[in-house]
Amino acid sequence: MRLRGIRRSKNVEVRGGGGARKGGIGIVGVLAVLAIGYFTGIDVSSLVGGTGSQQGTTVSEGDAKATQFSAQVLATTEDVWGRVFPEQLGRPYVPPQLVVFSNVTQSACGGASGASGPFYCPADQKAYLDTQFFDMLAQRMGAGGDFAAAYVIAHEVAHHVQNQLGILPKVDALRRQSSTAEANALTVRLELMADCLSGIWAANVKGLMERGDLDEALNAARKIGDDYLQKQAGRAPQPHTFTHGTSAQRSGWFQRGYDSGNVGQCDTFAADRL
Ligand SMILES: [Zn+2]
Repeated sequence: MRLRGIRRSKNVEVRGGGGARKGGIGIVGVLAVLAIGYFTGIDVSSLVGGTGSQQGTTVSEGDAKATQFSAQVLATTEDVWGRVFPEQLGRPYVPPQLVVFSNVTQSACGGASGASGPFYCPADQKAYLDTQFFDMLAQRMGAGGDFAAAYVIAHEVAHHVQNQLGILPKVDALRRQSSTAEANALTVRLELMADCLSGIWAANVKGLMERGDLDEALNAARKIGDDYLQKQAGRAPQPHTFTHGTSAQRSGWFQRGYDSGNVGQCDTFAADRL
């Protein structure tokens, strides 16, 4: 992904080892990442097909790069949805905040640990990236896996889009009065819609895409999901999902958004077949 010259979003908050601050996670955060990585054995770099072996640069350098990368990708989502909302939905877009945290942090959806994996909290309208994902970003910067990482950010922003459209609260209410199986089926539709919306984002940043980027995103859609992240992290608690679509469904819906660029094409709840 070509991000040179792309502005950085100001809606990024970096929370280091203790208090919240801007600019980097610092050595305390770095140590926490390494400790968490060691004790849980999570290799987040596998998310984008990396071997996790190319940790050549210093970590602080990688942090700065990854912060910049996240802020630039977030800026592209602001530009895309800031255009698509008025054009297709007749309303303005209010962008989310992106919180990059190390160790532990609080969200309006509860506490998140360093092993949380990316998630979106509708209650505070913030997307959260833990430093293990952050670390993976640093490792993959410019290494051909960057678009897959960008897709993950776009997917969390897509949940914010769903929240802006009132879909998250509606489905949440539905889920509450459903059996577990029915609730899971609703979650699948939410996730596939988010993948489709991510495809719309990708369709609007074609000018920034490099050879192989679309495949990277499709591959990521096949290989990673909230369930994958949760399983890797050995934990339960993301607010928005405990299940997902099949690989074919995920990549298929991403492709549908990418090909159509049309929010109306992403209505998974109206689809007979997923
Ligand atoms: Zn999701």
